[in-house]
Amino acid sequence: CATGHLYTKIENPQVVHFSGTMSDITERKLDEQRRSDFIGMVSHELRNPLTAIGGYTYLLAKRAQKNNDAMVSDAAGKLSRQIKRMEALINGFLDMARLGEGKIQLNRSAFDMADLVRIAEDESLATITSHKVVFAPVDFTPVEADKDKIEQVLVNFINNAVKYSPEGSTIQVSCVTRKGEARVQVTDEGMGIPEKDQPFVFDRFYRVESEGMKNKKGFGIGLYICREIIERHHGAIGVESTEGQGSTFWFTLPVVAR
Ligand code: ADP
Repeated sequence: CATGHLYTKIENPQVVHFSGTMSDITERKLDEQRRSDFIGMVSHELRNPLTAIGGYTYLLAKRAQKNNDAMVSDAAGKLSRQIKRMEALINGFLDMARLGEGKIQLNRSAFDMADLVRIAEDESLATITSHKVVFAPVDFTPVEADKDKIEQVLVNFINNAVKYSPEGSTIQVSCVTRKGEARVQVTDEGMGIPEKDQPFVFDRFYRVESEGMKNKKGFGIGLYICREIIERHHGAIGVESTEGQGSTFWFTLPVVAR
């Protein structure tokens, strides 16, 4: 009978444990949501003044150039780089908040994943000097997806590989098709991720706490954004890693008929 069933449920230690975990998760999700809402609001407010600062910095740089003022020109250049960093951070926060609200629209189109990997390759070769980034050749791989957002995921993987692996080490990027899925992966020779942390690195605000992480700045939202983007494309995302040896971050997308 129903009462008997309920009784068994309460008496069953596994079920009791399960309900405890559930309420922890609900608490954590609420806390995450509040933090995300707050960050979203603040980021929104910061965007306008930052745009103004960027505009004036541009004017300053132009004037310094005209007047041959090397000192002001140098200062304007440094300001402009910091502004770009802040803009990237704010955009990340806004993306996160919009994703949480389900407000991000996918702008899907048909494209060749090999092209996207080549774009990332050109960008990496032009900007990354601290590591050896090796791109494996990619065959024609037709997908239907939001190209900018998929590029954002790949660039995020590459930037993390740079950030969490030693200077001079190698980063490998590849894309292969198997069982109707394109699998893009980025492998580094860095600090790796402890097994206990691996299931959580795609969670919002999650960062590994370890000795090696002490001087690594970040907010733990990049991989969360990546996961949301890939899941909205009905793909899969994951990591394989051995602590102290390196990590492979990967995602898959369905390949469409040619
Ligand atoms: P952030 O880098 O800003 O902390 P991310 O969401 O990109 O945020 O990453 C979450 C966490 O996952 C990082 O704080 C780090 O602990 C771990 N991580 C991500 N990429 C790597 C990597 N390539 N190697 C080792 N750890 C990584």
